[in-house]
Amino acid sequence: MVKLDEVDLKLIYLLRDNSRLSISELAELLGLSRPTVKSRLEKLEKEGIIQKYTIKLSPELERAENIVIMIVKTEDPESLENFNEIIEINKFTSKKHVIKVAVENMKQLRQVIEGAGFEVIEIMPVLEMRERERPIKIRVPFKCDYCGKEIVEEPIVYKYRNKVYFFCCETCFREFKKARENIEKFKLSEGQKVEEAHKH
Ligand SMILES: [Zn+2]
Repeated sequence: MVKLDEVDLKLIYLLRDNSRLSISELAELLGLSRPTVKSRLEKLEKEGIIQKYTIKLSPELERAENIVIMIVKTEDPESLENFNEIIEINKFTSKKHVIKVAVENMKQLRQVIEGAGFEVIEIMPVLEMRERERPIKIRVPFKCDYCGKEIVEEPIVYKYRNKVYFFCCETCFREFKKARENIEKFKLSEGQKVEEAHKH
């Protein structure tokens, strides 16, 4: 496993939600220079950490398919990989697998079964499939921008003045906002003082 630091993880985090963020935007959000962001992204791509930037399409654009779940037994599990129709492979034992197959008709299903040469133990047609969207969980934690502790759960992401901050919990997020507001107020009153000083 490649070692990832805070900057890498934050880049991954931001791109996970919007892979179209430009280098300039990422640099601004994280308060980094453009060359830094560029070289980091190149590194992440080269190391295979970021494997691709993809899009999410409306399901209406997809061709109607029938989903079938099968419990199968095979002496040659690698052969399952050869079929694009097999969209999910869950291994139970060295021979037993639960697979999900997407086919347009029975003929295509038969071709997969015969071609892959597995024994069908059970076959279940899926009447309705609803894939729940879930964010990719990132394994390596990074630090909270308020308390400095490692964020274990999903971070709270907060955008403020074109910058992005990550917090471990609601409390840190609240405290950070409060501290920010105080700084703003202070700056404001400093500005007033300067203005008044000019008047005299
Ligand atoms: Zn915290």
